[in-house]
Amino acid sequence: MAKKRLYIKTYGCQMNVYDSARMADVLAPMGYESAAGPEDADLVILNTCHIREKAAEKVYSEVGRLRHLKDEKARQGGRMLLAVGGCVAQAQGEEMMRRAPAIDLVFGPQTYHELPDLLGRATRDLMATGRSRVVAIDLATDEKFDRLPEEAAPQGASAFLTIQEGCDKFCSFCVVPYTRGAEFSRPVAAVLAEARRMVAAGAAEITLLGQNVNAYHGADGDGGTLGLGGLMRRLAGIGGLERIRYTTSHPRDVDDDLIDAHRDVPQIMPFLHLPVQSGSDRILKAMNRRHTADRYREIVASLRTARPDLALSSDFIVGYPGETDADFEATMALVREVRFAMAYSFKYSPRPGTPAADLEDQVPEAVKSARLAALQDELNRQQEEFNRSCVGRTLPVLLERGGRHARQLVGRSPYMQAVSVDMGSNEADLRGSICDVEIEAVLSNSLRGRLIGRETMVAAQ
Ligand code: SF4
Repeated sequence: MAKKRLYIKTYGCQMNVYDSARMADVLAPMGYESAAGPEDADLVILNTCHIREKAAEKVYSEVGRLRHLKDEKARQGGRMLLAVGGCVAQAQGEEMMRRAPAIDLVFGPQTYHELPDLLGRATRDLMATGRSRVVAIDLATDEKFDRLPEEAAPQGASAFLTIQEGCDKFCSFCVVPYTRGAEFSRPVAAVLAEARRMVAAGAAEITLLGQNVNAYHGADGDGGTLGLGGLMRRLAGIGGLERIRYTTSHPRDVDDDLIDAHRDVPQIMPFLHLPVQSGSDRILKAMNRRHTADRYREIVASLRTARPDLALSSDFIVGYPGETDADFEATMALVREVRFAMAYSFKYSPRPGTPAADLEDQVPEAVKSARLAALQDELNRQQEEFNRSCVGRTLPVLLERGGRHARQLVGRSPYMQAVSVDMGSNEADLRGSICDVEIEAVLSNSLRGRLIGRETMVAAQ
C-alpha cells in the first residue's frame, strides 16, 4: 500500500488530543503515517475546539493559509485533502462548507471512526466534480468506540483514556451539549481492556477523560452499571497501574461512592479538578449549574475528610451577565475559604447558540477585567502558597521526559506540579518511573527537587 502522509492540528482539551490520536489509529490501515507539517502532508485535519471566543474565526484563517498550500500542490500535479473535525465543525457543519470551499470534508467528534469511508466519498466527489461537499456531523456516540481499532502508538508513562462523552447539563454559557451531544458512558469491560493495553504499553498513570467524567455510568457485565468510584476500584486492580486521575467533573455528580473511592483507593491521586464557576447562588442559578455555593463547600469538606491531603483546582467565570459586585464578592469569599492549589479563570464571553449569549445585562469589559485581575491575584497567591508548602516534603514524582539541561528529568507530582530533578552522572534512565523526590525550591512554573531513596522506589515497582 502506497504510504500517505497525515498532519493533524489539534486545538483545545485533552479529549481532542485523545481523539486526534484515535483518528491517526483509524487512518493507519489506509497507509497514513504522520507528517512533520502540513506542507509535507497528503491529508491535513484540523481538530477544532469551540470553547474560546472567536474559535471559529481562527479555524477559517487557518483554512485560508492551508488553501494556498493546497493550490500550490495542485499546481505541482499533487493533491492535498483538507478536513475539519471537532466541535467547530460540529457546530457549523454545512455553513463551513459554504464559507470555505477549500475544505473537502467536515466531520464531528462522533463520526471520526468513519474517516476511511468519508475520505473515499470526498475523493470520488473531487474526481467527478472537482469539488467535495462531504459533511458528517451525526451526534450518536454509541457505535464510535466499538468501531475504533486498537491504539497503534503507546502514549508513554502517562496516558489519557476517554470513558465518557457528551453532557446533559446545559449550563447556559456552554456549547458542549450542542457540539458533543448527550452523555454517553463506555462499557466497563471496554474501558478495562483499553487500560490494560495502555499499562502493558508502559503507562504507570492513566487520566480518565469525559466532558462530565463523574457522570460516568458504564454498563457492567452483570447487566448493572458502575459509577466512576466503582470503575476506579476495578482499574486499581490492574498490576502496574500506579496512578489514576480523572477530569472534568461537575459538583452535581460527586456522589458518596466517589468520595469513598478517594478514601479507599490509594492509586487515585489526591488532586481534583472540580469547576465551580461562581460563588454566588444567584449566578449559579442563572448559569443553570443547579447546585449552591454551600453545596460545593459541603462536597469539598467531605472529600477532604475522605482524603485529608487532597488539593483542588477549579474553573471560574467572572462578569457573567447580571453579575453584581456582591455576586463577585461571593466568589472571592468562596475562593478565600476553600483555597485552591491552582485554578483557571476567564472573563465571560458569549458563545453563539448558548442561552446566555442573548442575555441583556452584559457586564462592561472594564468591570470584567478588574474582577478577573482581583480573582487571579488571589488564586496566584494561593497557588504560590501551596507550592511553598511542598518545599521540604518528599513527593512521589512520575518522571516522564528530559528537562532543559543534560541529565535533567521532569515529571509530575501527585498534585500535577511539574517537578525537575538533576540526575547524577551514573544514574539509570528513570523515565517512566515513580521516584521519591525531596522538594527543594519553587521556580516560576514548576518545582525543583532532589532524588532520594531511588533504590527503595525502584525496588517497590
Ligand atoms: S457541565 Fe461542563 S460541559 Fe456540561 S454544559 Fe456545563 S460547563 Fe458545559
